[in-house]
Amino acid sequence: MGVEYLRISLTDRCNLNCVYCTPLEKNGFLKHDELLRHEEIVRAAAAFIRAGVKKIRLTGGEPLLKKNLPGLVKMLKAIPGLKELALTTNGVLLKDQAAPLREAGLDRVNVSLNTLNPATYKRITGSDAMEDAWDGLMASLKAGFSEVKLNMVVMKGINDVEIPEFARLSMDFPLSVRFIEFFRTNERSRNLKNALFTTAETKKRIEDAYGLLLEVPPGPTDGPARVFKRPGAKGKIGFISGRSDYFCGACNRVRMDCTGKVYPCLFSPSTHSLKDYLRAGADEDTLVDFIKKIFLVKSEYRKDSGSAGDIEMSSLGG
Ligand code: SAM
Repeated sequence: MGVEYLRISLTDRCNLNCVYCTPLEKNGFLKHDELLRHEEIVRAAAAFIRAGVKKIRLTGGEPLLKKNLPGLVKMLKAIPGLKELALTTNGVLLKDQAAPLREAGLDRVNVSLNTLNPATYKRITGSDAMEDAWDGLMASLKAGFSEVKLNMVVMKGINDVEIPEFARLSMDFPLSVRFIEFFRTNERSRNLKNALFTTAETKKRIEDAYGLLLEVPPGPTDGPARVFKRPGAKGKIGFISGRSDYFCGACNRVRMDCTGKVYPCLFSPSTHSLKDYLRAGADEDTLVDFIKKIFLVKSEYRKDSGSAGDIEMSSLGG
């Protein structure tokens, strides 16, 4: 399968400290000069697009902490051949940025919000910003994006009681509410013993509350999610079953972190530094050749071909 989807992490900084994501120990953040600058991200993206990428997602860290994100969005959207530009954010800073981002050309937004209870929010994120995240979600619904998704990482004993309430949001708002299976990625998340609440358990909770869910064919933006709808609902419900259910043969994505390291596969430790090429002034043809070689080696990696060790979602962006 050709690589058509690139996830770009813009920063390792985050304004939340999530129990399932942020590393236990972090020796400060990367220095400014280690991060790719806007102009370098755009050169890299243009080369990825020439190599076959059609869709880009901006993530982090928290991407809304990146300076002048609407400016970057505008530059990326001007690259010929890019069909879709999306963003994954915790929503805390989205209230004021939703409209400028839409105006700059951003197509879609995913907001990560795992609870609607302020005390649980504090427990999960270490922050009191739940209302801000909710306001950000509502602002993104008003801003006119082609789609807004709400991502909830379900954790047993932490937020699983809220599953019906989240499912309800897909009925009342034109939202795709997606229930994401928690998975262990690093030492911090491994400390959350017994937190896995499976997709089957989540679906049963929803059906116990509202009746049977009707499966609908996944749309072009649904990725690996299984998608359902309740009759009369304004939005949809999706389930993402983490690594357990991951189907390598259907994977069409690569990731680039905020330092320009390209990860062809989450299950492989090998990475390839595009930053060296960008900073050495490589021309676009050279960048495209380098990227095409990365796409070729991607096909050699499978989830059962060995462990990549810890994956720091907080800097790689999920
Ligand atoms: N700060 C942004 C946010 O919160 O959406 C973007 C980065 S965050 C790392 C992106 C996504 O990673 C979140 O939506 C979350 O679902 C996912 N994620 C991180 N760690 C995870 C884990 N242990 N299990 C499941 N999902 C995880």
